Amino acid sequence: MIQTHHHPSSTKGLSSLTTLLTTPTSSLLIDPPFLLPDALTTLTWITSLTPHPPTAIFLTHHHPDHFFSANPILSAFPSAKFYASPYVCTRINNEYDEKIKYWRSVLGEELVPAMPRRPEPYPFSFFVLGGKEDEEEVVVVLLGPVQGDCVDQTVFWIPGAKTVVAGDVVFGRSGHVWVEELESPALLEAWLKTLDMIEQLHPVKIIPGHMEAGWELNAEADLAHTRRYLRLFGEKVTYAPEKLGVREFIIDANSVLYCTSKQSPHLHDSKKYMLNLLRR
Ligand SMILES: [Zn+2]
Repeated sequence: MIQTHHHPSSTKGLSSLTTLLTTPTSSLLIDPPFLLPDALTTLTWITSLTPHPPTAIFLTHHHPDHFFSANPILSAFPSAKFYASPYVCTRINNEYDEKIKYWRSVLGEELVPAMPRRPEPYPFSFFVLGGKEDEEEVVVVLLGPVQGDCVDQTVFWIPGAKTVVAGDVVFGRSGHVWVEELESPALLEAWLKTLDMIEQLHPVKIIPGHMEAGWELNAEADLAHTRRYLRLFGEKVTYAPEKLGVREFIIDANSVLYCTSKQSPHLHDSKKYMLNLLRR
């Protein structure tokens, strides 16, 4: 019997979601938070849900908002393996020094560790959890590399719970989708195809890469939100004769998609954060 849980980071931590899988004898964590204060909250959340330290901590992709503050969690659970697919590790290693320098200067040295721990390559397509005593084993399937807000996403599929941990392939409907790296029609189409693939798994639950606190997961609505946003990006940027810049697109998307909806205040915050994050 497996259960899946998710925990949103603060809005300053970009509302990235950390996922915890629990069985009666084990647990597994996916995507630690970006910022140190969120890691401490996440630690309390983990220990409130399971007495079993995570067997492993996995990452969905190389972006700092999905692993930079793993340090306190790894220190609290020294037996936990720290893993990511080899193609994720490569990207982390390529950008490591530059990203640390950048984020510590933007957000402050008290929020971002000086030396975020780096995951070891996990060159396999599934992970088996549980299976102690008479407990049934739980298989976690790693699907990747697939396209999301960058080219190196791993989607985690837990058939026993019909749950997808989507990373930044699916964005919760509380916010904008990160489109800064979507630089060609091929990347846009590949991302849309990845959404089709997830839908074909017929998940009952999708845990997106980002979702603000206070929002309920909704597999269908979050998939639809991500698709709609990407199609709008295709229309206004990728395939437009006169392309908007990403910055202009975000402002435009805010008014086109959300102006009249109850999501407006959340989207306004999300827009603000997105604009701050764009390369300067
Ligand atoms: Zn992210």
